[in-house]
Amino acid sequence: MSEFSLALTEDQVTLQKWIHDFAETVMRPQAHEWDEREEVPYEFIQEAAKIGLYGWEFMAEMMLNDPSGQSMMVAQEELFWGDAGLGMAIMGTGLAVAGIAASGTSDQVAEWVPQCYGTPDDVAFGAFCASEPDAGSDVAAYRLRAKYDEAKDEWVLNGTKAWITNGGIADIHVVVAVVEPELRSKGHASFIVPPNTPGLSQGQKYKKHGLRASHTAEVVLEDVRVPGSCLLGGKEKLDARLARVREGKRGNSQAAMQTFEATRPAVGSQAVGVARAAFEFSLDYAKERKAFGRAIIENQSIAFILADMATEIDAARLLVRRAAWLGKQKKFKYAEGSMAKLKAGRVAVHSTERAIQILGGYGYTREYPVERWHRDSKIFDIFEGTEQIQQLVIARAISGIRIK
Ligand SMILES: Cc1cc2nc3c(=O)[nH]c(=O)nc-3n(C[C@H](O)[C@H](O)[C@H](O)COP(=O)(O)OP(=O)(O)OC[C@H]3O[C@@H](n4cnc5c(N)ncnc54)[C@H](O)[C@@H]3O)c2cc1C
Repeated sequence: MSEFSLALTEDQVTLQKWIHDFAETVMRPQAHEWDEREEVPYEFIQEAAKIGLYGWEFMAEMMLNDPSGQSMMVAQEELFWGDAGLGMAIMGTGLAVAGIAASGTSDQVAEWVPQCYGTPDDVAFGAFCASEPDAGSDVAAYRLRAKYDEAKDEWVLNGTKAWITNGGIADIHVVVAVVEPELRSKGHASFIVPPNTPGLSQGQKYKKHGLRASHTAEVVLEDVRVPGSCLLGGKEKLDARLARVREGKRGNSQAAMQTFEATRPAVGSQAVGVARAAFEFSLDYAKERKAFGRAIIENQSIAFILADMATEIDAARLLVRRAAWLGKQKKFKYAEGSMAKLKAGRVAVHSTERAIQILGGYGYTREYPVERWHRDSKIFDIFEGTEQIQQLVIARAISGIRIK
């Protein structure tokens, strides 16, 4: 077991420099354009794939070869410092990969994860489809149904998913479906929908407040048939789990918490990246901008905003890094993954808003990036569990009471 340390290894420092350079020289110059276009930045993703930043090998290196859990945090922070919309365009596929890794067998991981990325010349995408139009936080209210056709050993999926990153444009859709409605959230299973499966289509593409270089859309499934082998984890395991739930045996909630908590620090790191971008930009601006014959940073009221931003960003990063380490050791106790994501999301929203304040009127225009960073930052309070859902998870973990 590794000890918790904030010191990065030599490899992690190299990784940080490599991604920072990409973020500064490739992402930043095109961020504004893709935000305005609100289209899938295929050329950009291809560029990332060509240097090895978008691909299953990169994800495997981040997720499997790092007992400290810090490499992924470093990578996410730098990418999202570059740009959140383009960052999500690269990282969105990772949600599908996490879904496959969480429930799939090793054969399924080996078969489907590379297909989520394709090749640098022909990039592919993965989408993780859980949320529905009438059920986001309330996962027990999912309605998309999967029924087993025993004669053909096929599953038939019907329903609609909402807010799906890469939804409809993905080659691999990982779909969470209800297999036994009476069991509510315990009666779910996840399925792979392979490329070009008839019956799956894209519904509306959302026009968003931020993160606009990342594609988000509805996914409609009408009599989508997938082979039995596409049930993640396999039928035997599903049947055994459902039988246990029917008998009233509780699932291993500790194991479930370790899984859910483990993805949250990465989202926290993304938020820290956006917050840091806003902090650095507004610090430089405050030193340059003159009012009343002096640099605005010479006023305590401006300097103190920056002091608070620096402190809050450091606090968020510390929580994120600790949570990433705890996740690797499977040692979450008080929902530290949720704590990290909750804090980092709030810090990103606050820091980007304060950055606009420091830039004054210029901050409110699209000529400067801070208004985009502010729009982008709000997502961290919403996806991968809203602010209130993180509070709920933490409140339950610290109290042992099923707070509602
Ligand atoms: C850009 C973007 C990308 C996304 N990508 C994906 C994706 O790839 N895959 C996917 O499956 N989903 C994705 N989502 C969906 C996202 O996870 C949901 O929007 C989120 O979980 C919230 O669900 P909801 O929008 O239905 O809000 P609701 O659950 O309806 O919540 C509305 C409000 O009520 C609050 N609330 C709800 N329940 C409670 C409670 N019990 N106690 C206190 N407050 C409560 C919430 O905190 C929120 O403030 C994405 C969303 C966006 C915006």
